[in-house]
Amino acid sequence: MAYPFSGARLDPEEFAFDAIDSLEPDAEKAAYDSLTSLKLVRKRATGERTTVRVKNVEIGADRFVVIAGPCAVESERQVMETAEAVARAGARALRGGGFKPRTSPYAFQGLGLEGLKLLRKAGDAFGLPVVSEAMSDTQVELVAEYADLIQVGTRSMENAALLAALCRCRRPILLKRAMVASVEELLEAAEYLLANGNPNVVLCERGIRTFGKLTRNTCDIVAVPLLHQLTPLPVIVDPSHSTGRRSLVPSLARAAVAIGADGLLVEVHPSPETALSDGAQSLSIPQFGCMMRRLDPYLRLWAEELAESDPVVPAAPR
Ligand code: PEP
Ligand code: MN
Repeated sequence: MAYPFSGARLDPEEFAFDAIDSLEPDAEKAAYDSLTSLKLVRKRATGERTTVRVKNVEIGADRFVVIAGPCAVESERQVMETAEAVARAGARALRGGGFKPRTSPYAFQGLGLEGLKLLRKAGDAFGLPVVSEAMSDTQVELVAEYADLIQVGTRSMENAALLAALCRCRRPILLKRAMVASVEELLEAAEYLLANGNPNVVLCERGIRTFGKLTRNTCDIVAVPLLHQLTPLPVIVDPSHSTGRRSLVPSLARAAVAIGADGLLVEVHPSPETALSDGAQSLSIPQFGCMMRRLDPYLRLWAEELAESDPVVPAAPR
């Protein structure tokens, strides 16, 4: 069968992937040798993929998972309005920062605990599990009390003390790629979590730093199928931080579906022009609804392809 798109899981007979890869045995061996320290995070010979359960939502399973919400929780009204709208449009989890790692010390740093409480309230009101960031090991316990999935931000991927604390809290983790990290380094950070007893890790490609100034970052979109080749962990894409521009978010979201990502992390705000953080890359509520509707045909193809790919197993019960 010919597939309409997706480099992730093309028909091996038709495209003879193994044969193409083996044209470069030395290069391939060198690349894979650099991954030998990854004992737990590497894909098994059986090709099984893991799913990560976040309350009633499974990431890496047979449904694409869109996580949406504001960059930062700003007020009860803002987060409630966003939660209701994104749930209605098909999002399956709510994001929102209480503690915000901002580049400038003068920028809005988040509502802290108050933000976490409001996020929890909004998630519960609309049946959405919630995602929020812990910036340091000392915040982990507090964030774990309110969030169902704990985000490790791009600035924290290599914070070993944070990663260790996250294993003790026994919540699933959304591990974002550092803006200057290689795919190998992202996998090493995930290995920290698995090696210390937390198998419930979702990887997130959120763009890496390159030299262009017209986008905030450069989305390494091919990291998605590469990671799927190397690790059984689910992989999602953040088109908001990848681009920094709301006009580019829907296109990258489509690309993420087409290339076989397991989900999206998208910033949505009821009034992006007045957002206290990341307004330029936040979709308005109608824009998010429109993006979701336009993803529909792509999601149908996504599901067809998935049905023909590797078997899926849940991560070890916690
Ligand atoms: C965020 O998700 O709002 C965020 C700060 O992300 P990143 O760490 O990828 O910049
Ligand atoms: Mn943000």
